[in-house]
Amino acid sequence: MNQDTKRVNTAEDLNPYHVAREQFERATQYMPAYDRSLLEMLIRPERVITVDFPIQTCDGRIQHFVGHRVLHSRVRGPGKGGIRYHPGVSPDEVRALATWMTWKCSVLNVPFGGAKGGVTCDPKKLNKDDLRMITRRYIAELGDNIGPHTDVPAPDVNTNAETMAWVYDTYDMMHPGQNNAPVVTGKPVDMGGSLGREEATARGCLFATQEAISRGIVPDFDGLSGKKIVIQGFGNVGGIAARLFEEAGAILVGLSDSRGGIYAEEGIGFAEAAKHKQATGSLAGLRGTQQVDYEAFLGLPCDILIPAALENQIRGDNAAAIQAKLIVEGANGPTTPAADQILQEKGISAIPDILANAGGVTVSYFEWVQNIEHEQWDEDVVNEKLKRKITRATGAVIDLQSEINNSLDTLEAERASKGLPAVSLQPIDLRTAAYILAIKRVADVSLKRGIWP
Ligand code: NAD
Repeated sequence: MNQDTKRVNTAEDLNPYHVAREQFERATQYMPAYDRSLLEMLIRPERVITVDFPIQTCDGRIQHFVGHRVLHSRVRGPGKGGIRYHPGVSPDEVRALATWMTWKCSVLNVPFGGAKGGVTCDPKKLNKDDLRMITRRYIAELGDNIGPHTDVPAPDVNTNAETMAWVYDTYDMMHPGQNNAPVVTGKPVDMGGSLGREEATARGCLFATQEAISRGIVPDFDGLSGKKIVIQGFGNVGGIAARLFEEAGAILVGLSDSRGGIYAEEGIGFAEAAKHKQATGSLAGLRGTQQVDYEAFLGLPCDILIPAALENQIRGDNAAAIQAKLIVEGANGPTTPAADQILQEKGISAIPDILANAGGVTVSYFEWVQNIEHEQWDEDVVNEKLKRKITRATGAVIDLQSEINNSLDTLEAERASKGLPAVSLQPIDLRTAAYILAIKRVADVSLKRGIWP
């Protein structure tokens, strides 16, 4: 459980891996054509590694750190997934994040499986040299369990291009004399990083939102212009999304970081917010805004809510207060299954994480291809390719949602003919549609490859 969910008082099971499993089970109800034993194989992670290592931190102490790397699936290609540094990193959190990566890569049709890693640590209490040593030792401990064609890391919460440079350098020291650039993505651009990667996750959120709106997901929305936006998180995803949504004509009315939220009904300028955050280390106290506490933030009046911080933010105990008409999941796992149910009842659509924030892994894939080919593509080429992939995936998920919702009776009959327990199938939301699309693709490749040996 992460730091931010500890203070939540709810009876709901917030274990991220249990959440990921429940989402999977909900989707597989609509997939009677697939054998249960095959589906069970697909949800189980292929490999879970835990490493425990000492670092002599700059204050002279020897401190121990625990890290994990989970390879969930290699069915459609090498594992792919970020590295997170956070006090709340746990084996089940990493398992869940790795599982979501498998479905995300599949929804986007990028030829990767799913993986994720993390080290349980508080970067706010460590300096840059400590973090460099943690990164080097963590990567050295993982050894050949990562590699350009086996499992390829990338940035996540509290890691960035500089961290990826240390990952690359460590791996390169261990494997001299070969092209190691594709071992990690999200690198600095002058080390083989892709132009457009830093902005890619937020840009993907924007493209998915624009396509979903143009496909009529929110009946009275005709575009982003003038739409009021609330964004939780002001890091790589939330901070850049704030800028891109503002550039697209939306009005930022609520922003937050780990120290709290700010609100201004008339709008908050991105440039002023970024300048204030840079100068003071937080958004709190920005002139012309009022402070909003954690509990009230997600319920602020707005058209679009973008959770872009951590898991389990929209839950059974607070989903009813949400006023947005559309939720765009910049973060991984921000919404629990109980909240999904409430949102669906309230008629609020949510573009799920495995689609909305897939821009990052998509451009990571472009970076990997460029590294293998010793190429560097122009930024407009990257953004255009990203737009095409996100737009196509968004359309495919929306189409599948309608297709399934128009064939519930047929699916119930198919379940009965297969001897599966009788259930009254309810119309699906976009998350379940994205899951069904993703699971089918992984299942079909598994069947074609066959179970080894
Ligand atoms: P980051 O470390 O750059 O930023 C995280 C932000 O969340 C920070 O601004 C932090 O202050 C804020 N935050 C933490 N707790 C908060 C709280 N309770 N309320 C409000 N804000 C809070 O991380 P990031 O890379 O932007 O990742 C954010 C989310 O997006 C994560 O769920 C991550 O897994 C997901 N994601 C990231 C990428 C990527 O490319 N970086 C890709 C896909 C998904």
